[in-house]
Amino acid sequence: MAEFDYDLFVIGAGSGGVRASRIAASHGARVAVAEEFRVGGTCVIRGCVPKKLLVYGSHFAHSLHDAAQYGWTIEGAKFDWATLRDFVASDVDRLERAYTSTLSNNNVEHFAERAVVTGPNTVRLASGREITARIILIAVGAWPVMPEIDGAEHCITSNEVFHLPELPKRVVIQGAGYIALEFAGIFNALGSAVTVVNRSDKILRGYDHDLTERLLPVLKARGIEFAFNHPIEQVTRQDDGTLLVRTSGGKLFEADAVMVATGRQPKTAGLGLESAGVELGATGEVPVDEYNQSSCPSIYAVGDVTNRVQLTPVAIREGHAFADTVFGKTPRTTAYDHIPSAVFTQPPIAAVGLTEEQARLVHGHVKVFKSDFRPMQNMFSQVAERGFYKLVVAPDTDVVLGVHMFGPDAPEILQAVAIAVKAGLTKAQFDDTVALHPSMAEELVLMR
Ligand code: NDP
Repeated sequence: MAEFDYDLFVIGAGSGGVRASRIAASHGARVAVAEEFRVGGTCVIRGCVPKKLLVYGSHFAHSLHDAAQYGWTIEGAKFDWATLRDFVASDVDRLERAYTSTLSNNNVEHFAERAVVTGPNTVRLASGREITARIILIAVGAWPVMPEIDGAEHCITSNEVFHLPELPKRVVIQGAGYIALEFAGIFNALGSAVTVVNRSDKILRGYDHDLTERLLPVLKARGIEFAFNHPIEQVTRQDDGTLLVRTSGGKLFEADAVMVATGRQPKTAGLGLESAGVELGATGEVPVDEYNQSSCPSIYAVGDVTNRVQLTPVAIREGHAFADTVFGKTPRTTAYDHIPSAVFTQPPIAAVGLTEEQARLVHGHVKVFKSDFRPMQNMFSQVAERGFYKLVVAPDTDVVLGVHMFGPDAPEILQAVAIAVKAGLTKAQFDDTVALHPSMAEELVLMR
């Protein structure tokens, strides 16, 4: 008789949990995973994937306009929200099936119910069943933060936005981070009147100032309104069903939908972690060491619940490293430097490595190269938007410390250049590379 029901019990079948389950099982572990909602987690079900499909869907607004300049006649073009929404939902269903198959194909037992921790080696399912496991992995992710707003029940978050019955004519979005600005771009392109309100006058904190300073006027030129230093205080439903938004500074906005995107917090409430002596951090996160082990030796955590870097590919790496370490006899950690990231605003931004500000803190003096250019594809565009790339270079070693990009396809281009930055290549090696002409990406090797 085995001492425990399973070698590994994973709570949460998102990006980190599914990867950890699959890899642990491939190392011979007996694995089970409990998921209270849908297999796939935030990224697949109500995050990156459906969001990106909405971005693609909304891009047609610009493309159709530009097509006329290239000689195309587009007659009777009109947009139907329900078609896009339902297409996105059906693709999410497809992916959920694929993730579920991954679990079963790897002999991972799947419990479609909530599980809570009841001790260092025990969990209890919602059905009441108690299960023992040698190792428990917490991979429950994070949940949208709802600030104190009088009338918060009238607001939606990124959880609900994919299911709107109709495209709102007027949207107020609180926050100026990833989610707020990505959805501002989607709604704006689809024809909604969008107002972004934020508590500060900063957008996309953490990105290089040259990117955010260039992005903001472009978003404004596309028609997105901004009210800075005006967090929402109250939302009331009016007699005609529309919403009235009042900010702390007394501004009033009428809206058909109010979306709040003010960060995401680890979803550990009610998870029973205290029963196993797991210490939690200030935002409810599970602090872990470099091998993803919590303060309770049999309990590990990966992904957003640890509040390290809230990005899917990072959670996947952490889940994989955890499984290799604990079940594959190959201790592995995750490198948190040189993580490429992108914001799918319209146009998007993307970056890897140090911002100019960060590099100055580390290196004192840095060399900066900038290219401000008009992308060829924008020549006929309704909006004469420019692109902008920036390299931050260490003056002593010539190593490229950071690449920051703003313009069409920036995320696609950045993934490739991130390899060069991760590899520690120098500016001279960038310059040695022959340009691929005509492309936007050639700017990366032409900055002098
Ligand atoms: P972000 O942390 O990106 O932005 C939060 C925004 O909300 C900021 O503008 C911040 O203002 C504001 N804010 C924070 N707390 C409060 C508060 N209590 N009251 C009012 N305003 C507040 O969070 P998101 O929700 O947009 O996204 C969550 C995370 O999800 C991201 O950090 C990212 O890791 C991930 N994500 C990644 C995406 C991608 O890779 N493309 C896409 C979507 C999400 P201020 O800056 O002024 O303090």
